[in-house]
Amino acid sequence: MNDKTILIIEDDKSIHNFLKLALKANNYNTVESFTGLSGISLFMSHNPDLILLDLGLPDIGGMDVLLQIRQTSAVPVVIVSARGQEQEKVAALDAGADDYVTKPFGLNELLARIRAALRKQKPNVVTHEFVLDTMRIDFDKRKVYIKEKELHLTPIEYKILLLLTENAGKVLTHKFIQEKIWGYESNDDYQSLRVYMATIRKKIESDTACPRFIMTEIGVGYRFADE
Ligand code: CA
Repeated sequence: MNDKTILIIEDDKSIHNFLKLALKANNYNTVESFTGLSGISLFMSHNPDLILLDLGLPDIGGMDVLLQIRQTSAVPVVIVSARGQEQEKVAALDAGADDYVTKPFGLNELLARIRAALRKQKPNVVTHEFVLDTMRIDFDKRKVYIKEKELHLTPIEYKILLLLTENAGKVLTHKFIQEKIWGYESNDDYQSLRVYMATIRKKIESDTACPRFIMTEIGVGYRFADE
């Protein structure tokens, strides 16, 4: 039995019920709300391990719910968004949401997002390497290998790859990556970031058209594979 409790804040009845049944079938406990305000009060009374948050709610917006919760808590929040809500989705990620799924989403995708967001809760353990498939990063030596062949990365390329792998499984927005790597927001088109990502992909992916490691989240950012 899973001992994790997930708070569902979603006003669409069919999606709400789908979420509830799917989570229960996967041994999560659920607490449910159809509005933003009761969602916030359930959050305070039940202290859930994760929140699934719809952006479009009948009373207050999902973004307002997120901002209120973030004042007191770092609980993982996965946004449930509709198509065409790209800007709201990116704004929510930049305001501290951990990830998102876009309706209609598949159950496996949802469960993977939940697992990745819950992993963030684990206390930081010092690790010395990252291994996934053919890739290995040696953090002590600051070296990256594909099939045990050392790659030559520039310091910025290494820094970007490190940020992505530290957050494997989670989507990172263009703005977040840019601020972490360069320390400021230089512009909104993220052109130099795109150029760096293309170069990194050429070095690590065997087929850049069908990436194994770095996924593009269109209009949002990038996600490093975690399995
Ligand atoms: Ca809604």
